[in-house]
Amino acid sequence: MLTKNDTIKEYAKELKLSNLCRKAEDFIEDGEKKDLSYQDFLLNILNEEIVAKEEKRRQGRLKNSGLPIIKTIEEFDFEFQKSITKKQINRLLEMDWIDKIYNLVFLGPPGVGKTHISIALGYKAIDMGYKVSFISMDNLMYALKTQDIYRKSKIRIGKIHSSDLVIIDEIGYLPINREEANMFFQLISSLHEQASVIITSNKGFGDWNELLGDPALTTAILDRLTFKCELFNMTGQSYRLTHRKSFLED
Ligand code: ADP
Ligand code: MG
Repeated sequence: MLTKNDTIKEYAKELKLSNLCRKAEDFIEDGEKKDLSYQDFLLNILNEEIVAKEEKRRQGRLKNSGLPIIKTIEEFDFEFQKSITKKQINRLLEMDWIDKIYNLVFLGPPGVGKTHISIALGYKAIDMGYKVSFISMDNLMYALKTQDIYRKSKIRIGKIHSSDLVIIDEIGYLPINREEANMFFQLISSLHEQASVIITSNKGFGDWNELLGDPALTTAILDRLTFKCELFNMTGQSYRLTHRKSFLED
């Protein structure tokens, strides 16, 4: 025979109140112990359910984002990297640039923290409820080229199109052929004024012509990317090289 608690759990499950389903006994015990009013008892249950559901959604957004690793702004040393200020980043962490569909471009040599900052912004955006996609330029090219053959690629591109923020990391490391440059243009065009884009690149805009192989296409891409855009020219030493870890010297 089902006890009342069993029935409560069953109903909770039916209604997809998974937190209540899991913790029904705890709520009842807690309510009795603290002699809660009916109102507070219900408030607790509903409040915890909302918190649990939001956390589940956040985890889902994190999983869908493709972020390769978690980096935070707290870990970022602004003493080491002086071409971007804490104040600028704090302003970006408010995320209203995503609501206003601004793009961010981080340019600079390897190791200066372009990817770190992009990931940290993406992670915070996920926290705040935005849908984020992170993809390296070469994985993006691969996914674009194979989206008609591989389901996985199609899904990846689909997620990019439904994101509020798309982070395209490391433009400029690998050469791009004409067909790829064209596909990249199509993507940037369709994201234009629909989603914010973060670009990191080790090449200055002046070198993009050569990189993309077609001046007209390059102009068209840069036009769209930079129309509403904050540009960060990051300089300095490579954090990796300066903080190189030695196995033998340890
Ligand atoms: P980039 O993308 O510019 O090549 P990364 O962001 O990948 O550089 O940084 C390389 C490594 O150094 C990463 O592990 C990153 O977390 C770390 N790093 C870079 N700059 C800083 C910084 N200013 N403070 C702390 N860690 C940093
Ligand atoms: Mg990088």
